[in-house]
Amino acid sequence: MGNKFAEKIKSLFGKGKKINDDFYDELTDLLVEGDIGAKTSYTIVEELETICSKEKITEQNEILKKLRDLLLQNVKSIDLQPEKDKINVWMVLGVNGVGKTTSVAKLANYYKNQGNENVILASANTFRAAAIEQLAMHGEKIGVRVVSHQHGSDPSAVVFDAVDALKSKGPGIVLADTAGRLHNKENLVRELQKIDKICTQKADEGCYKKIIVLDATTGQNALRQAEVFNEAVGVDAVILTKYDSTAKGGIAISVGRELNIPVAFVCTGEKYQDIKPFDAKNYIDEFLGL
Ligand code: GDP
Repeated sequence: MGNKFAEKIKSLFGKGKKINDDFYDELTDLLVEGDIGAKTSYTIVEELETICSKEKITEQNEILKKLRDLLLQNVKSIDLQPEKDKINVWMVLGVNGVGKTTSVAKLANYYKNQGNENVILASANTFRAAAIEQLAMHGEKIGVRVVSHQHGSDPSAVVFDAVDALKSKGPGIVLADTAGRLHNKENLVRELQKIDKICTQKADEGCYKKIIVLDATTGQNALRQAEVFNEAVGVDAVILTKYDSTAKGGIAISVGRELNIPVAFVCTGEKYQDIKPFDAKNYIDEFLGL
């Protein structure tokens, strides 16, 4: 990845520039450019300035290390694993086009390869006919069962049936693809809350997770999406997609700082294996070009 953003960070910290207000202003602008968001960028740089002045740090490299520490404190990660011998139900959320259906398939493949035998996909994005077909195709390719109803049917009924199908075979995990029509927020929220109720009833205690898929190339829009879904049903974790198409991805820091939501996975392509557990340290180092 040609990381132009990291190059800019490097040049800011490498030119032997004077550490003054201009330096910190430039750093704030750069972090905003890196999709961290104005509010978070401003606060982080202010904290950095305070620390460096208190600890009398004036050397560029040392300041950069402090910045890395600060960013690390703000980004949160989570190791998302289905609980063994339990009924796990994970609802995958996000607006259309972010890579939700693809991510559901990647997750199914990932957990299947880890030895989870009972994995079922629930096609609860009944609003988009293509999503039902897409998930069916993925299920066939990966070799996992897909439960779906007709286009336009009640998505919570799909999840209900999928969990019953899972239970008939024993413990395991249902991964539910959902609709994401943000332009009709009230309907979306109502629909999600209905599915939410079913998932809460059907999953074993502590085994129901709500995961939002965010497209890393959409910057601060992704933060707003996370906000809406978090308000509607609460969000446990983020899957960051299309990280192959951006070098910025400061959104992981924004959702951590602003919404306290951890990142579980990062996706870097369209293939099933293009998903990796989120490693905060690597992520920040890559972000800063360290
Ligand atoms: P949905 O509408 O949210 O279900 O989105 P889809 O799963 O249909 O994905 C939309 C498009 O994004 C498809 O062309 C996917 O192949 C593509 N896509 C999904 N994840 C990634 C990713 O990590 N990297 C890239 N480059 N493309 C992705």
